[in-house]
Amino acid sequence: MSNRVVQGRMVTPETLAELVEGERPMEAEDIEDADRDCPDCGGDVLSVGYMPSVTEFVTAYKCQDCDWGETDR
Ligand SMILES: [Zn+2]
Repeated sequence: MSNRVVQGRMVTPETLAELVEGERPMEAEDIEDADRDCPDCGGDVLSVGYMPSVTEFVTAYKCQDCDWGETDR
């Protein structure tokens, strides 16, 4: 299962990456549960690896419950 619920909305790997990146990635891997809690609200954090361009691979982390998100750049 690759679709998950974030802040009450169903997201795909691509739309989850877009939430953090601000632009839709070229490619995205499956969404995974990150082994960490949100620093803002303590909620569950998801991770998704994606390619914003052909030369870059980034992992995004996004809280399921609030606006918090970051990348590993
Ligand atoms: Zn949060």
